[in-house]
Order: sequence, then structure tokens, then C-alpha cells
Amino acid sequence: MDLLVVGSGFFGLTIAERAASAGKRVVVIDRRSHIGGNAYSEAEPETGIEVHRYGAHLFHTSNETVWEYVNRFTSFTSYQHKVYSHHDGVVYPLPVNLGTINQFFRAAYSPDEAKALIREQAGEFDVKTAQNFEEKGIALIGRPLFEAFFRDYTAKQWQTDPKQLSGDIVSRLPVRYTYDNRYFNDTHEGLPTDGYTAWLERMADHPNIEVRLDTDFFDASQPLNKDAIVGTVPVVYTGPVDRYFDYAEGELSWRTLDFEQEVVPVGDYQGTSVMNYPDAQYPYTRIHEFRHFHPERDYPKDKTVIMREFSRFASRDDEPYYPVNTPEDRERLLRYRALAEGEDRVLFGGRLGTYQYLDMHMAIGSALSMFNNKLEELL
Ligand code: UDP
Repeated sequence: MDLLVVGSGFFGLTIAERAASAGKRVVVIDRRSHIGGNAYSEAEPETGIEVHRYGAHLFHTSNETVWEYVNRFTSFTSYQHKVYSHHDGVVYPLPVNLGTINQFFRAAYSPDEAKALIREQAGEFDVKTAQNFEEKGIALIGRPLFEAFFRDYTAKQWQTDPKQLSGDIVSRLPVRYTYDNRYFNDTHEGLPTDGYTAWLERMADHPNIEVRLDTDFFDASQPLNKDAIVGTVPVVYTGPVDRYFDYAEGELSWRTLDFEQEVVPVGDYQGTSVMNYPDAQYPYTRIHEFRHFHPERDYPKDKTVIMREFSRFASRDDEPYYPVNTPEDRERLLRYRALAEGEDRVLFGGRLGTYQYLDMHMAIGSALSMFNNKLEELL
């Protein structure tokens, strides 16, 4: 073995595939009984509908290197993601666009009129100087729209004072003064034609790659454990960085998700793939209906699969999904980064390993640069 990769999500598999193609022998271990991390998907047995087991994953990128790379393993459908929001008994298009604004204010504003209105409603806040989620949110869409679509959704999603959250989270969503309600701005977008798992399996399908599932890096009873391996062979670790150091600097806070999946005996439950529920009266943040991710497929006409999504703080035994990233977390992270620098031939990557809110294309892009800039010389 020339390299051990801990974790078989997109970051780990990209590293493994690159190293294997460069002639290195790679072992990938994963604690779970399937590859792919949270991008894993599977057919729901009763309907055959592809379900993203860890929540909806939408691929999009403007990075040409990443786009060229991912197309080696899968083709993509022409799916374009759109999200709607169910507020106060009415359904609005998201992200906030001229359609949302005009529907909300029951008006027919032109783009310039709408901009002037939002500027007035943003009050004292300015996008350039906004310090946190709340200030940036209000600066971007004004207080009434923020309160309708963001305040209570964010309370459910993060359970954290929006003044403690980063403004970067809110700027994940564009605001548009046109009727364009595509969720993403990127040049390339689509879903893997034959599903996420087929894509992930093709990345791992190389004679130099061995994948061992149900194998925990921290389990001393299996041979590829941390104490036995570190220092003897280069390691790329994509698990939670605080777990690696046995929480020596304290726990980083994460949000985890719970899902309630249901097969409903109707052909179409909500008419779209994702409906957000920003109002506090609903305990879930959104409902996914998976058939709408693949309108090109021949799915049953009388059944559909929906999944309600609930968010809460993760304890050590839960799957971490979203880094909360409060100022305290950021200080802890700096201390973990210093510890990580001191590890002998161990590189940390991915959403969990770097405690960053990475989308799939970002994880793949950062794995490609880690391979080219840091890892090649260690191998
Ligand atoms: N958000 C919100 N209302 C919505 C959608 C998003 O308040 O209807 C906020 C929320 O805080 C969320 C953030 O915007 O965490 C980013 O949204 P995105 O859809 O990118 O989140 P993801 O799909 O990654 O969970």
C-alpha cells in the first residue's frame, strides 16, 4: 500500500482515483457499509425511485477542471434545480427573485423598482459591510422577505443566533431581479444519469484501489487503525478533524439531519423536487420528492417517495452534516489546524476533515488541488 484514504466520499475517492491512476496502490477504508459518504443513493425497494439517503444532492459547478474530471465517470442529465417555499399557506419561488418579490408584495415592480424597494427595506445594512448571517440576509433581501423566508427556516436549520452564523451561508443563495428562479448560478448543472452510486463506484473501480467497508480508522482491533498506520504510510483523512485528535481542543459543533421517508400512493405529491417550509409551525425544514429529480426515468405513475428533513445538533454518535462555524468553533478550528500541521504525512480534507461547508464540486476541486500540490510529493 502506498496510500491510505480514510473515508470514501467525493474527496476521498478523488484522491484515491488520482493516486491509483499515477500508479500508486491505494486502500480506502470507510466506517459505513457503503461507499460515497453522504452522496450515496439507492433505489427505494417498492418503487425503484432513486433516493438520496443523506438528503438531496444536486451537482453544479463553474469549475471547468472539475467538470471535465467528473465527466470521466458519469454523464449528467439536463436537470436544473428549482426550489419553492411554502410560507403562510402560499407557495413562492426561491431563490428570492422578481417573481417572489412581486408575489409577496402583490405588485408588478420592474427590476429597478424592486431594487429600490429592497434597498429601502434593507435599512441600515449593506452587503459589503454586513458582519453576520442576519445583517447580510437583511442587506440582500430586506427585512420583510428575510423574516418570511429566512428567519424561522434558519432557526430550525441551525438553532443558532443568526448573529453568530457566517454571512457566507446566506450568500449561498443568489438574489435576482429577473424572473429566473434557477437555484444555482453555475455554468454546469445536472444529475448523474445512472445515479450517484454508479458514479461513485466507477471512481473506485481501478485495479490499484481496494475499498474496505465497515472499517473504522479508530478501531484498534482492525489492522489499518490510526495508531498502527500513521507515520508508516501517507494518509489522507476525511473524517471529522476533532475526532482525529480525540477532541483534545474540544468539540466542533455540527448539525445533523433526520429523515422521515414515506411512499405515498399518488403519482405526484407536491409537483416539484424540493419544497421548503420556512414557517415555525412545521417541525421539518423541507420535503423532497425524489421522482422529480429524474423526470426522464420511467417511474411508477401511482406511487411516489417523499422525505421530510429535520435538523438538530449532532452529538458524537450522530452523522455530522453542516459545520455551525460560530466564532468559538473558528477558534477551535485554528487550534486543530495547528495540530494537523504537526501530523507526520497525514493530510486532512473534505467537509469533515476541514470543517468547511463544501459542496460536492468544491470537495472534488479541493481534492484535485491537494493531489497536485501536496500529496504527489509525499507518495
Ligand atoms: N435558507 C433559508 N430559507 C430557505 C432556504 C435557505 O433561510 O428557504 C438559509 C438557511 O439558513 C440555509 C442557507 O440559507 O442553511 C443555505 O441554503 P442552502 O439551500 O444552500 O442549504 P443546503 O441545501 O446546503 O442545506
